[in-house]
Amino acid sequence: MEKMLRIAVQKSGRLSEKSLEIIKNCGIKFGSDSRVLKEQASNFPIEFLYVRDDDIPTYVRDGVADIGIVGRNEYDEQAIDLAIIRDLGFAKCRLSIAVPNDFTYTGLSCLQGKRIATSYPHILAGVLKENKVTASFVQVSGSVEVTPAVGISDAICDLVSTGATLAMNGLREVETIYTSTAVMIGRNEMGDDQKSSILKRLMLRIDAVMRANN
Ligand code: ATP
Ligand code: ZN
Repeated sequence: MEKMLRIAVQKSGRLSEKSLEIIKNCGIKFGSDSRVLKEQASNFPIEFLYVRDDDIPTYVRDGVADIGIVGRNEYDEQAIDLAIIRDLGFAKCRLSIAVPNDFTYTGLSCLQGKRIATSYPHILAGVLKENKVTASFVQVSGSVEVTPAVGISDAICDLVSTGATLAMNGLREVETIYTSTAVMIGRNEMGDDQKSSILKRLMLRIDAVMRANN
């Protein structure tokens, strides 16, 4: 029996639709019921695992999945050593510093000694270090934009796509420190010849779909 390549895809969120669309456009047939958490394609040796995006790098590292699609931001934040197989180009967003409207921002150096709320402490720490800025982090996993108003942070560092949420919370975006798109990740060594060859076949199709879209 032919082995299956298992791909981890975000169950429901900003990455889900486009991730599945790319694979559907490869002519691969699947997707009978949105409640299933694992399913096989009917005409290609690939199996889907639908999970939270945060869990995808760990699943790929541990071999629970062979490849996965995540935001580059999540991949870099977790700093798990994997291979980026392709930059898929969708789910563009930026990680930006935002400050309350009455904060006079003159550059990263004015964050020295301040409290910055973020869900991306690892990425932010790298950027601040490069700029020789020392700040304290308030680590939150959501609703980062509310933290200045409740007095637990002086500034935030969060993903933005339009800035509307920032404005609603009395904040303004002052500096982009990182940009992200969705990437396909895998282990540095697949460790299985059959799976490697399935991955090659899949990537030939994905590259053709991406060329056609550009
Ligand atoms: P899950 O329940 O799977 O953990 P989530 O809330 O962490 O979902 P989403 O908000 O669906 O995740 O975002 C998934 C990814 O989509 C982000 O990590 C990022 O790469 C990308 N993304 C694109 N635009 C935005 C945006 N405006 N805000 C947040 N993430 C965005
Ligand atoms: Zn998540």
